Amino acid sequence: MILSKLKTRFIIIYLFTTLSISANNDTVKIFKNNNLLGEVDTIENNNFFSINDFLSSTDSKEYINEKTEKIVFYIEDKKIKLTNGVTFILIDDNIFQLSSKIIKKNDEYFVPSNSFEKIINSIIQNISVSFNSSEIIITSNSSLINNSIKNMDIEKDKWKFSTIIIDPGHGGKDPGAVGYKGTLEKDVALDVAKRLEKKISKNMKVKTILTRDEDIFLKLGERTKIANENNGNLFISIHANAATDRRASGFETFLIGPNKNEAAVRVAARENAVLELEGFSGKQLSNEDLIKATIAQSAFASKSEQFASLVQNEIAKRVRGRNRGVKQAGFYVLMGASMPNVLVELGFISNLAEEKKLRSSQYRDMLATAIFRAVEQYEKTLSE
Ligand SMILES: [Zn+2]
Repeated sequence: MILSKLKTRFIIIYLFTTLSISANNDTVKIFKNNNLLGEVDTIENNNFFSINDFLSSTDSKEYINEKTEKIVFYIEDKKIKLTNGVTFILIDDNIFQLSSKIIKKNDEYFVPSNSFEKIINSIIQNISVSFNSSEIIITSNSSLINNSIKNMDIEKDKWKFSTIIIDPGHGGKDPGAVGYKGTLEKDVALDVAKRLEKKISKNMKVKTILTRDEDIFLKLGERTKIANENNGNLFISIHANAATDRRASGFETFLIGPNKNEAAVRVAARENAVLELEGFSGKQLSNEDLIKATIAQSAFASKSEQFASLVQNEIAKRVRGRNRGVKQAGFYVLMGASMPNVLVELGFISNLAEEKKLRSSQYRDMLATAIFRAVEQYEKTLSE
């Protein structure tokens, strides 16, 4: 009696497991230069693909270490290494951040399609990979390059710039910097972000996402999570500056990078201070943390820098304030964003004259227009 009960239970569990696996597992076709190579298993609605199938379809040799759960393979002359359960891959021993961790299932390793596509396309010159809901397309330029492939690449690049993440700094219990006359950084940031969002959605064919559109508290990590989950192609974090020296003024745009000067370190320290509200000890990033973060961002560094200088130029065209330029420092909010990313400091609300300007809706609108023009120009450079 007990035995048969157990048996039934076992059969039910067995049926349930097979059903749920078949419901989650899928396949997509894989093509190289228009030739069908085979099929690749995917999971989580095609958001992860089997690297094992990918490699066997492309006739690539892989070395799997079952003990350490690592796979090593080559694309062109680049050595690529990935490990089960980690959120980055190594290419020639440089770290590249993935949007989520590698999953091992039924002896196959599943890699997040979106980040893999971005990383491969930016690192490996003669190959481009494109993932969509029903197929994986590999284009190899090492053979004859004809116009149709070129045009396809341009189309693909356009398609790639499809989502912009706008991140108004601070919010809720975190006011950010407080101005000479009490203006709150969180309010300036939100207002400029909303204006920017309107201008982009009115004039461009890209999707915009605000990490917050009201006065609420968001952890720094939640901001990049929103960006990565929505497959953002550009992350713009908007802030206003403050300094103990009331004379300090001007606008500047930051990228993540090793701290190079004292002033930049102070800005990063102030912007990272919210970590204390999140329950961290308020410890600043160590140089080693920063070097790792910088390497993880290296796939996006040149694009981030390009966009940062466009922002500076466009603001400089419109306002009289001091152009403090593009700088690097260790900002937590930019770490882990799998896309080009910058942090814009619109001006110093600790400076009486600049605070007055930042309180005016006309001035805020001008700043939003400047960033919007920078986005427009940035999009143009992508299709060039
Ligand atoms: Zn801020």
